[in-house]
Amino acid sequence: MKAGLEGLNPEGKRVLVRVDFNVPLLEDGGIRDDSRMRACLPTIQELRSRSARVILATHLGRPKGKPVEALSTRPLAARLCALLGTEVSWCPECVGPVAVAAAGALRDGEVLLLENLRFHPEEEANELGFAAQLAALADLYVNDAFGTAHRAHASTEGVAHILPAYAGRLMERELAALSEILESPPRPLVAIMGGSKLSTKLGVIDHLLPGVQQLLLGGGMAATFLVAEGAQVGRSLVEPDFVARATEILDRAPSLGAEVHLPTDVVVAAGPESTAAEARSCPAGEVGAEEMILDVGPATARRWSELVQRAGTVVWNGPLGVYENPAFAGATRLVAAAVGESSAVSVTGGGDLQAALESLGLVSKFTHVSTGGGATLEFLEGRELPGVAALRERLAVP
Ligand code: ADP
Ligand code: MG
Repeated sequence: MKAGLEGLNPEGKRVLVRVDFNVPLLEDGGIRDDSRMRACLPTIQELRSRSARVILATHLGRPKGKPVEALSTRPLAARLCALLGTEVSWCPECVGPVAVAAAGALRDGEVLLLENLRFHPEEEANELGFAAQLAALADLYVNDAFGTAHRAHASTEGVAHILPAYAGRLMERELAALSEILESPPRPLVAIMGGSKLSTKLGVIDHLLPGVQQLLLGGGMAATFLVAEGAQVGRSLVEPDFVARATEILDRAPSLGAEVHLPTDVVVAAGPESTAAEARSCPAGEVGAEEMILDVGPATARRWSELVQRAGTVVWNGPLGVYENPAFAGATRLVAAAVGESSAVSVTGGGDLQAALESLGLVSKFTHVSTGGGATLEFLEGRELPGVAALRERLAVP
């Protein structure tokens, strides 16, 4: 994307930056994980160093169009202040006279965080009047909210049609890393799919399949594929309505030059809460009637580790097992470590896989860990994201 920050002259200008600070919160209102905030720091710091007046807008949680005290962005301002090492002012409104005054009072290099955009129903409705009110706060617009780019909301889409619009550094980095996977990945390209349900990942599998050399299928969705191959999987997470689609994928893959790998052994137990002592590994065809597949087995994980070590590119979505329980995080840990040691370009997406990699301390070993959940999946499905499309339409604007 050419409409990046190098294309704008922000000196002394008010720049409205849409960020995705939709961080997971603790029960007491604290911030559980500020990675999404840290991911936007390069854009914010660059704008400050170039003497912009930075106005940050985000949503937080699902307040459903009305003010919810627990979802105020106020605590985020304090955290941002610590992360930036500079003062951040906070405005209790995101549009209207109070917000206009706060934005107008900014001096060069200063930062203001607005209240939660989704306290107004007009944000998600992408109402033109609301987009115009946001636009009235600033001279320029920068979208750095990749994680929300699959939504056509007033702050991600509408406002880009009103103000000169640019992609932030995080947005650029996400699009570059994910585009490389779809357009020109170093080969062989190994795709690893896990997570809970096949139904939510079918679009990605369909879109990636023609370009992939090896497709490794783990997580809950593997059970649906094993059933398609005629295996008994006991009480595993199977989606009966999608067995036919699983069969179709297995049949189609060879003609596209893709090898599909299902687990040949699995870790099973009575349920996700079982302990390691209560679990056992067995061949994929020998799951007991009362057992559940909760992880990919150790022999499969070792073979998959060898495959990723020979890969040019690895794209990975969804954990291989119920990683929240250490008893079922083994395959994810082993394969992730192998990806980390390999020289492959490695790109991952999905909130749960990111959380798994963070708890394993392996995030830094990957080339790119996408901050997007739904946005990443939709991009890998080959769909144009409305937030990105709106920026492209504005390429001509100086
Ligand atoms: P992501 O957020 O990375 O895209 P998903 O949301 O699709 O991943 O899936 C993550 C969930 O899948 C986790 O909560 C994990 O416990 C669950 N999961 C993984 N393997 C299994 C399995 N074999 N059976 C049931 N659930 C599983
Ligand atoms: Mg998830």
